[in-house]
Amino acid sequence: MFCSTTALSALHVKDATLSALHVNDATALERTFAHLTAPALETLEMGLGGRTPDTARTIGRALLRRKVHAVLDKSNDFGDVEAGLDIALPEAMRSRCLKQYGGLSPTTWRDCLSRLKTLSGDSREQLWSYVIAHPMTEYVPNQCQRCGHIVPDETTPGYTDAEVGISEVPPTASERPFVRGGYYRGARSAVAFLLRCPECGDESRWFRSSDAQVILNPNRWGRLCGEQEDLRAALARHLSVPLRAILPLDWDHVWSETRREADGAWVACQGPGDAPAANFAGRLDEGIGAWTRVIAVSADVEGTSDVTEEYLSCCSAGGRADERLDEEMPRYRETVSAARADASGSATQAKTLNGHVLHRAGFGREEVTCILRQAVVDHGVVGWWEWQEEEEEEEEEEEERGGG
Ligand SMILES: [Zn+2]
Repeated sequence: MFCSTTALSALHVKDATLSALHVNDATALERTFAHLTAPALETLEMGLGGRTPDTARTIGRALLRRKVHAVLDKSNDFGDVEAGLDIALPEAMRSRCLKQYGGLSPTTWRDCLSRLKTLSGDSREQLWSYVIAHPMTEYVPNQCQRCGHIVPDETTPGYTDAEVGISEVPPTASERPFVRGGYYRGARSAVAFLLRCPECGDESRWFRSSDAQVILNPNRWGRLCGEQEDLRAALARHLSVPLRAILPLDWDHVWSETRREADGAWVACQGPGDAPAANFAGRLDEGIGAWTRVIAVSADVEGTSDVTEEYLSCCSAGGRADERLDEEMPRYRETVSAARADASGSATQAKTLNGHVLHRAGFGREEVTCILRQAVVDHGVVGWWEWQEEEEEEEEEEEERGGG
């Protein structure tokens, strides 16, 4: 079922995208797929020869592969967790942790972790629930690092960068290796932000990063949802806790699942400040648009799959959601179906069309899972925009048999 990499026939997604966009840099390709709006999709389709089910299958496969490779790329990029654990804690954080967890006053995050290990005995599951509730992994809004004035996060409706006192600035030489692009009050490339605090007048710098050493900064450093997830993934690996990334399509969010010790089943991780994870279906009622699918990505092939059905079912039916959502599920399924069918992108929270493309491609749960798993296998070997078509593989086998 999986591709051999020797006889790779690169699909022409990359070339087609770049020529349709009249550019030749890979960031344009990345940008097009990262925010697959109706105009972006049309551009892709034109480059690939028009709006057909075949084109949808090509684009659908590429967008799923991109999601997988992005998660796996990141997991190679968590930086120096050990150094992060050795960062000295400010006095306020020490007393807060001491008060909450007892033991000796911690001087570093490593001390905190060792206290949590003591409290959880032999249970890795218990340890993990402590870690995701601990100040070391908590959500911290971007704020003035002197007085704690919080920068408003909302842009629609909300304030411009200038109105809240921030501006994009180039990273310094020492910041550059740690800075990543990402969503913060809008889509951003790898920039730093300078805040001139409207309260105290002081200046703070901040940037998005996947590096544990940066994210573990305990001095009023912003740790948003994406940073929390990256840090959890880094710490899970450090502690040998099984963890997989959960990504909804067409909705800007990410969370994770771990294995329950009793039966090995995957369960949604739920930290105290997290948006409801197991009841993600319920978020369809927030009035901000729909999601269209949910996928699980892990470096382990078996842990990678389409988990939409799990998030549209209650526990008693093998799903994730609380029973109280049981009556709502048929309506949630309809909402998701309608969002998949919508070609404008206006039905989804992210205003993108990933689920719509998969719908047009006719991909079911099993096909999506197969594509995702293939991308895990060939990560680091071929790009997400290239793969070998199965039909060609079969033909080659035919030829080999005929010729031999
Ligand atoms: Zn301030």
